[in-house]
This record gives sequence, C-alpha cells and structure tokens, in this order.
Amino acid sequence: MKHLLSDGGKLLYLQGIEGSYLKEIDVKVLGYENGGYILDKTIMHYQGGGQPGDRGVLISGNQKIPIYNVRKRGKNVLHLSSVEASIDGGTLIVDWERRYKIMKMHTLQHAISAVMFSDGYGSLVTEVFPAYGFIESNSGDIKIRDEGYGINKVARNLRRYDVKREDLDPRVMARCNLDKLPKSITEVSVVEIDGLDVCACAGTHVKNTSEIGDYWIRTPGKRVEFGLF
Ligand SMILES: [Zn+2]
Repeated sequence: MKHLLSDGGKLLYLQGIEGSYLKEIDVKVLGYENGGYILDKTIMHYQGGGQPGDRGVLISGNQKIPIYNVRKRGKNVLHLSSVEASIDGGTLIVDWERRYKIMKMHTLQHAISAVMFSDGYGSLVTEVFPAYGFIESNSGDIKIRDEGYGINKVARNLRRYDVKREDLDPRVMARCNLDKLPKSITEVSVVEIDGLDVCACAGTHVKNTSEIGDYWIRTPGKRVEFGLF
C-alpha cells in the first residue's frame, strides 16, 4: 500500500480533486465477503479519516443492489450490502446528494481547522457528516476570527496530489498529526486550499470554497461545531 488510506489507483475519487466528482462508473465484481462486494475500482469513499463511508447502488441487469456503507477490511474495500447476488459486474452509482454535502462539509472543516491553526489552536479530532461536523481542540474558550465565518465568500481553488513521505512540506507536518501514519505508507495524499491550508487527507472535497454555501459555527468548550444550512 503506497497511498495514505488507499489501495493503489483503484480509488478513483483520489485522482486529483476531479475524482471526487465521479458519480457513476462501470465496475467488475471480484467477490462478495463479510457482507460486502469487492470491486476492481470504486468511486465510493470508505469510512475513515473523519469522513463517513458513501452510500449508493450497484445496478446489474434488472437487479438494483443497495450499498449502505463502504469499509476497508485488510487489503479489501467492501461495498456493504445485505443483498448477495451472483454477478460479474455492473454500474456503481454514488448517492451524490449526500456525498456532495459531505464534500462541502469536509472542505469547510479543513478551512476552519486552518484558521484555528494559524491562531494557535490544535485540531485533535475531526469528524464530518452530511450536515454536521465537529473539531475537538486542545484548548477551551475558542474564538474563531471573522475569516472562519466567511470561508464561502472567498473563491479559493483546491488541489489534491501525492507526495513522497520524505518530501512532505514541513507545513503539512506542522498542521497535521502524521505520527499515527504507518511506516509502510510511503506516499501521502495532500489537499491544498489556495492561500489558506495544506494538509494530508484522503477524503473527498469540493473544487472551490465558494461551493460550500451558507453554514453556521458554534464553539462549546473545547469543541467547534459547524454545519450547512
Ligand atoms: Zn479532507
């Protein structure tokens, strides 16, 4: 395994920022085990890194197989479904309405974390869902400055690329906690928000911060909570 949280080139959502916008692809089915389909490639994000797994359907002939989550087990990415069908392939369609909300939320989380980081707050744990997310910090009484409330008002482009671990920008090492990253991972997925943030991440994000739309933030205790309107 080379990439952060990935399995070679089969995770198509990690091909640049554009890969996150793939809504359907034709796939081969390699097997069904532990309640999930193993495919030759996928556009569905698997649960991890503070982002939920995707949902969607696998369509084969007249069969419409619901996928309720995606998890990684060992080397395999399992597309979880209670329907076990004997099929060779089909068309995989992601629940795009849900996924696009998660992309907005994940981008918003990076941006808020970056504003917090520049003001000296650490982001210890982050988690996003389609309409709600939180950042746990190491200090209480958090004040988010105005920039954090106007992330959707400045149109900043995002980029995603792979970097050899030894070539990682010191800014990434400082901003993101990479201590837990296994030594076997030699290439790291980096997500950059133009002029605002650079961080290691293998989740899905929007192409531009103007896509985020309206959102709210509240700061109870050591936690920053946020969500889309
Ligand atoms: Zn991310």
